[in-house]
Amino acid sequence: MLFREIIGQEGVKQKLRQSVREGRVPHAQLFTGVTGIGKLQLALAYAQYLNCPHRTEEDSCGVCPTCLQFEKLQHPDLHFVFPIVKTDAGDTCDAFLEPWRNIILQKHYFDLDDWHSALGVETKQSMIYEKESGEILHKLSLKPYGNGYKVMIIWQPEKMNIATSNKLLKLLEEPPAQTIFILVSEHPEQLLVTIQSRVQVIQVPRLQTEEIQQALMQRGINPTKAHDIARIANGSYLAALKKSDESEENQKELQDFIALFRDAYTVGVLKDPQKKFESLKRLRQWSMSMADSSVGRERQKHFLQYAQQQVRENYVRNLGQPELNYQMEAEREFSVKFAPFIHSGNVEGIMNQLDLAEKQIEQNGNAKMIFFDLCLQMIVLIKKPRK
Ligand SMILES: [Zn+2]
Repeated sequence: MLFREIIGQEGVKQKLRQSVREGRVPHAQLFTGVTGIGKLQLALAYAQYLNCPHRTEEDSCGVCPTCLQFEKLQHPDLHFVFPIVKTDAGDTCDAFLEPWRNIILQKHYFDLDDWHSALGVETKQSMIYEKESGEILHKLSLKPYGNGYKVMIIWQPEKMNIATSNKLLKLLEEPPAQTIFILVSEHPEQLLVTIQSRVQVIQVPRLQTEEIQQALMQRGINPTKAHDIARIANGSYLAALKKSDESEENQKELQDFIALFRDAYTVGVLKDPQKKFESLKRLRQWSMSMADSSVGRERQKHFLQYAQQQVRENYVRNLGQPELNYQMEAEREFSVKFAPFIHSGNVEGIMNQLDLAEKQIEQNGNAKMIFFDLCLQMIVLIKKPRK
């Protein structure tokens, strides 16, 4: 990976290049910051830069044999440690190098959930097992293949158990020659304090909205949509990618959200008895279809979270400061009419009911009852007067 292939992060790139130029490369570093901002990419570009014999002031050459091996993540001096779930395939990272390389080369930006999907496991119980520390020791005891550094990148080091952590600590205290450790972590506070104190921290900041917007436009997303998504993503390119992937799914969420509140409004506020009756019938159908077993708990929870987010956005809209709003175009369109009905008199009650429904779904409650009860609560709340 070349520095120039990474979105934004000019400040961090500058700092890393400078440390190499000045020959002051700390042997243990921690790249930290939120998910999806390029920490692992920076570690990879840095590892390559440290080893490329033809690097310039700005970047690796990108064409020498060393660079080509790094690009494929196959250079013998590049080592990885990452959380795994033991299977018949093996119980150390080496057994999972192929999916690991693939996810990096194909996705570039990914999180632990994506990695679990790539491994084909649903559990969140992946970890860095104690056996791995033996592997690390063995790999680092070998002489470097090239003339540069051996680089050991540890992704999500907070997934090490205590025994592994202690063994790593020993290595950090007495590092093998010509070896650099790069820990890439979103939760450095979960690392042993003794490890934290042994590493040089590189704080990787959130990306700028414009940087994310540009990157999305290069993927063929139109400027308005790219701008909307970039704002919602709050500095995480991965969040932006997920948002753009899910826009189809979100359309469905928005349709369900509109259906719920449109009919709750008709039943609760309008006078026409025939219309009220029809809307009530539709709400009953709505709750049945939301509760359908083919929908699944995850999608039900996702809808309830989405609804809370939209209610919040609609309430904020009433404050008359559009720059505080984070919505997509279709959501904005509905909000123009809907926002006036979310106010200080009912916003708290609506949020509480949506939150309650989410908790009940999580506890495997009866989804039909939960969703129909939610409809009845919305009918009551939507007609409440302003405070
Ligand atoms: Zn090179």
